Amino acid sequence: MEGYARPVKKLVEELSKLPGIGEKTALRLTFHILSSPKEDMEELARTILDAKESIRLCSICFNLSDSDPCGICSNGHRRERRICIVENVNDLLAFERSGFRGRYHVLHGVLAPMKGIGPEDLRIGELVDRVKREEVDEVIIATNPDTAGEATAIYISKLLKPMGVRVTRIAFGVPMGSDIEYMDELTLNKAIEGRREV
Ligand SMILES: [Zn+2]
Repeated sequence: MEGYARPVKKLVEELSKLPGIGEKTALRLTFHILSSPKEDMEELARTILDAKESIRLCSICFNLSDSDPCGICSNGHRRERRICIVENVNDLLAFERSGFRGRYHVLHGVLAPMKGIGPEDLRIGELVDRVKREEVDEVIIATNPDTAGEATAIYISKLLKPMGVRVTRIAFGVPMGSDIEYMDELTLNKAIEGRREV
C-alpha cells in the first residue's frame, strides 16, 4: 500500500474488513468508488446508513426486519406450528427461496466452545421460551451439516424434546461441511422433505 494517499489507504482498509473482500478486491472497489460520480456515492453512503438505522431484529424470530414482528411472523397464512431453526439470516433467505412456508428462529451463530461461543450467546433461551409460549407442533433444526452445526442441533434437540415437541433434523443429500446459504432450492426442498426425528 506504499505510495497511496492516506484516504485511499483508509478506504481500502475499511473495505477489506467486509466478508469475502480481500485487499485486491478492496483496491478495485476503492478505484471504482473514486471514479464514480459523487451523487452515486452519496446515495450509496446514505443507503448504508438508512439500512443500519431502520433494520432491527424481529423480537419473535430474530430475523432482520424494518418492522417488529417481521413480515414472516406477522403473516397469518404461515404454518405457524412449524418452526425452522437456522444459523443466520442468509440461511433463512435460502429456505424462503426453496418455498418453505413455516416460520423461523434465527440463532445468529452456532455453538463453538473453542471460540468461547456458548448457548447464552445464541438465541437458544428465547427459542425455549417460544416453544413454551406458542403452540408448536414441530421444530425443524436446519443448522449447517458441519461439526458445529451438528453439535448445536444435538444440544437444541436435548433441550426441546423433554418439552414434548417433535424435533426433526433436515436431511442432506450433500456432503458434510457444505453451506446452506449456497445450496440450490431443490436441494433445500429435499432436505426439508427428508427430515428425520432426532
Ligand atoms: Zn419474525
